[in-house]
Amino acid sequence: MSGTTRGMIVVISGPSGSGKGTLINHVMKQDSNVCYAVSATTREMRYGEAEGVNYYYKSDAVFDQLVAENEILEWDSFCGYKYGTLRSELESKISKGQDVILDLTVPGARAIKKAFPEDCITAFILPPSIEELENRIRGRQRENEDQLKLRIEAAKQEVEFFREFDYTVINDDLDTGVDHLWAVIKAERLSYKRNSDVLNRLNLKGAIV
Ligand code: ADP
Ligand code: 5GP
Repeated sequence: MSGTTRGMIVVISGPSGSGKGTLINHVMKQDSNVCYAVSATTREMRYGEAEGVNYYYKSDAVFDQLVAENEILEWDSFCGYKYGTLRSELESKISKGQDVILDLTVPGARAIKKAFPEDCITAFILPPSIEELENRIRGRQRENEDQLKLRIEAAKQEVEFFREFDYTVINDDLDTGVDHLWAVIKAERLSYKRNSDVLNRLNLKGAIV
């Protein structure tokens, strides 16, 4: 056997409140080889969140220093705060064969796809309707009224971008949404490019592999 098969990067994007975090948490329970790359952010920690679990919480100055030191692979501003993918979270995990989920804004998804074209698949999470999206954002009672309005406005712009992504998951019924996202990961694991070593070693005479 040659070395461990490289894991893949699963980029998840979609408007705030579409259910990205909820779907990611459920999908990670399906398989311990699927993990989450925790980003750095300048936004404050919210009730129920924890350092190193949801984010690494940084001051603006520390965040900028990480960018200058090339420790952040991509970053974006969202509703007044910075969010960035940490090199340390991503590269060691995929080289160990883990499949790594990233939750990114659309520009972040584009940047990671460009930097890791062979490793990366992208999925866009859509709500069943804008009304339901607004209900979900309000229902989770996480943001103040100003932040809510910003997020709802941003969400209306973001839904337009789903065509750029490899897969679309409509998160209406939760179990179906989880099944669909999990199906994307399982199918991608079977793709030829992720199994070419094994298939070539089989040396199937007469088969087109
Ligand atoms: P995001 O990470 O995209 O901002 P969340 O995962 O925080 O979204 O989900 C937003 C809210 O909607 C949460 O309160 C969550 O419990 C709820 N939610 C997520 N998926 C569904 C679903 N399929 N049906 C109903 N509520 C959902
Ligand atoms: P939230 O404040 O709801 O946790 O996240 C706000 C937005 O930031 C979400 O759309 C999420 O996808 C995005 N985000 C989180 N981490 C990163 C990151 O490292 N890079 C980029 N580009 N976006 C991120």
